Amino acid sequence: MPVMDNHTHLDFPDAELLVGVKDALDAAAAVGVQGAVQVGCDLESSRFTVKAVELDSRLLGAVALHPNDAPGYARRGGLEEALAEIEALAAHPRVRAIGETGLDFFRTEGEGLAHQRYSFRRHIDIAKRLGLTLQIHDRDAHDDVVQVLREEGAPERVVFHCFSGDEALARTCNAEGWYMSFAGTVTFKNAADLRSALAIAEPDRILVETDAPFLTPHPHRGRPNASYMVPYTVRAMADVTGSELSELCAQIAANTVRAYGSWD
Ligand SMILES: [Zn+2]
Ligand SMILES: [Zn+2]
Repeated sequence: MPVMDNHTHLDFPDAELLVGVKDALDAAAAVGVQGAVQVGCDLESSRFTVKAVELDSRLLGAVALHPNDAPGYARRGGLEEALAEIEALAAHPRVRAIGETGLDFFRTEGEGLAHQRYSFRRHIDIAKRLGLTLQIHDRDAHDDVVQVLREEGAPERVVFHCFSGDEALARTCNAEGWYMSFAGTVTFKNAADLRSALAIAEPDRILVETDAPFLTPHPHRGRPNASYMVPYTVRAMADVTGSELSELCAQIAANTVRAYGSWD
């Protein structure tokens, strides 16, 4: 049952070691996870992303300054230069998304929030001008993310990575045609609101991801996450949506190609 992990960080070492790109993708392929989107969070990891997509055809890329990293660039006076490099890296034909960008009210506060908003607006602009998908990081900031998207005018394709909303946000995404990407969090015991959101999400807007090495699905919480763990998440998603697992995977694979273009 082929499916794709549309948000992973292959450059972040897991607990003990950095697993090679090919090894990580081989392990994923062995359980039917045919492709992944490697996501950059700062200049270094966005440069890594471009190298990685050239190394292995099972990868597409996303590049951006993470909402928790953008304030640091701004404080050092390097935000404009960094955004210019992100735009240059995004010109690579296998980079299909600007992300992860967005708002994070959990880890950033004070003056950093103004930089975060500014950076989010600039990333939206880059995605629109380059015709790329926008991959959003939204932590404790649902209403503000939606507001900024509406003020700026959302790009044609928007993905809420590690969707963490409730039914209200799922309804907004359904109405706007925005993709909701579910991570291992949907398997957590305390995630009833998230499962209610998934239950009403339009089937053609659902994606799956790991956000590896973070957010390992149940029953392996505490261990580093990786793309080969996607089956635990899609099985939980099939339970919630009452779908046949193979049909859900086919739907997600089709949605993923619609959201990012073909891996071929
Ligand atoms: Zn994120
Ligand atoms: Zn991430």
